[in-house]
Amino acid sequence: MTENHQDSGRPNTGIVFLVGAGPGDPSLITVKGLECIRTADVIVYDYLASPRFIQEAREDAELIYVGKKGKDHTCEQDEINDILVRKAREGKKVVRLKGGDPYVFGRGAEEAEQLVASGIPFEMVPGVTSAVAAPAYAGIPVTHREHASMVTFITGHEDPTKEETAIDWEVLARNPGTLVFLMGVRNLNTISESLIKQGRSPGTPAALVRWGTTPAQQSLFSTLARIPEDASRAGIKPPAVLVVGSVTSLHEKLNWFEQKPLFGKRILITRSRKQSRGLAEKIASLGGEPVLFPTIEIKPPEDTGPMDRAIQEIGSYDWIIFTSVNGVELFLKRFLELREDIRDLSGPRIGAIGPVTAATILSHGIKVDLLAKEFVAEGLLAQFTTDQVKGKRFLIPRAETAREVLPEQIAKMGGTVDVVPVYRACLPDASDIDHAKELLRTKAIDAVTFTSSSTVNHFVEMLGPEDLGRLLEDVVIASIGPITSQTIREKGLTSTVEAAEYTTDGLVSGLAGVFLKRRG
Ligand code: SAH
Repeated sequence: MTENHQDSGRPNTGIVFLVGAGPGDPSLITVKGLECIRTADVIVYDYLASPRFIQEAREDAELIYVGKKGKDHTCEQDEINDILVRKAREGKKVVRLKGGDPYVFGRGAEEAEQLVASGIPFEMVPGVTSAVAAPAYAGIPVTHREHASMVTFITGHEDPTKEETAIDWEVLARNPGTLVFLMGVRNLNTISESLIKQGRSPGTPAALVRWGTTPAQQSLFSTLARIPEDASRAGIKPPAVLVVGSVTSLHEKLNWFEQKPLFGKRILITRSRKQSRGLAEKIASLGGEPVLFPTIEIKPPEDTGPMDRAIQEIGSYDWIIFTSVNGVELFLKRFLELREDIRDLSGPRIGAIGPVTAATILSHGIKVDLLAKEFVAEGLLAQFTTDQVKGKRFLIPRAETAREVLPEQIAKMGGTVDVVPVYRACLPDASDIDHAKELLRTKAIDAVTFTSSSTVNHFVEMLGPEDLGRLLEDVVIASIGPITSQTIREKGLTSTVEAAEYTTDGLVSGLAGVFLKRRG
């Protein structure tokens, strides 16, 4: 749906925001840049812009991919300009998203000039250029009081042997500061030779950083003379920056990013898309790359009758026990639909299994009277005496299918239990099973995380049990707790690691432990 800006009081011409999207790590974006992405009608992006930004877009935003790797894109540039002008003339808020900074070898200025010429308003939102960020993530500061008091950004795209070069190699060779070449991977030989020929020492420390700031980052440290050969041996391809100067030697001390426990690891998240975010952020913060493969989609129960009745009679319960975040969210949503006033919930006491479930309840302004010390059903029961249960009425709003331990035990202790389904964990309507299989088959996934028994069951159902052993060979299987591990075993698999605390934090710590140990 297109927003007509006339309605919002704006004139009916759109606007183009040229937004720098950081060189890879999606958290490297300005607050303004992110705000632009979240509110855009149209996003025009290229291949260096992280796909994670696209997830921030409005669901109805139009996404136009115009990126192309390497080589010149002169003809496409006209098309890109046309698209920007056309969409803006339709009255839309257009974001032109570019990797790094739009004005640093990004042709952003040419697009801006075209907009000005067409009378389209534009704003420029600077980004973090790879010329600074990629070295920084490889432990290289581009300046340092004892190493370099200046830094020069150079396009390495130019053929230095051509006669009319815009690059003065003699001046560069004499330049006492740091040199950062972008787009230089294919010209490493000529860059190195030209600088040495003009008098730069062959032993000058030099480094290449490929896919800087991303989990796929690769760095290579060498000298000006040797780096072309070392790079070809290491198979370094674009995109990479070449840094020449003694600052590169600081990486030994300052290499913080590549030392993160999950650095370079691709980790599959199988929980519902909506709930994946927190886990994905935790994985990324430890240097890993989260890959979403939701095996669950949360839907309302088929029959809302029992839930609705429980809500109508809410005052007759002594306890409500929540066992999951989804249970809390869907129950409260329905509660407010039917009762309209949260104060109607004041009678029963509230129990929760798991700190995240408790936090979700609290986030609705509701106090938790009892939190299970062990984050499984048994943990909660251990905290009740028979006297506290006998003759009391319990409501357990939860998934349509779930473990029976809790209701059975409460009944045994003399309580009355109403178990009402408030949601169903269904297979997702749409999912890219082939893509997930391909990633597993090519060993592009290092670990799979399971955060509940249903994620295990659905994962096996979606991928098919036949190939599973082979697909998961050498893949770390991480389980959130004993119940999930048991389901994993029932499927003939073995979990490599089980969270010590049964939360996603515990899960990620467990994973980090496995990979740190392997690294030795
Ligand atoms: N406007 C971009 C640069 C675009 S030119 C910026 O400011 O970063 C494309 C070149 O940028 C690539 O050839 C490579 O040299 C560099 N580059 C972009 N992203 C990179 C990354 N994540 N790691 C290393 N180099 C990168």
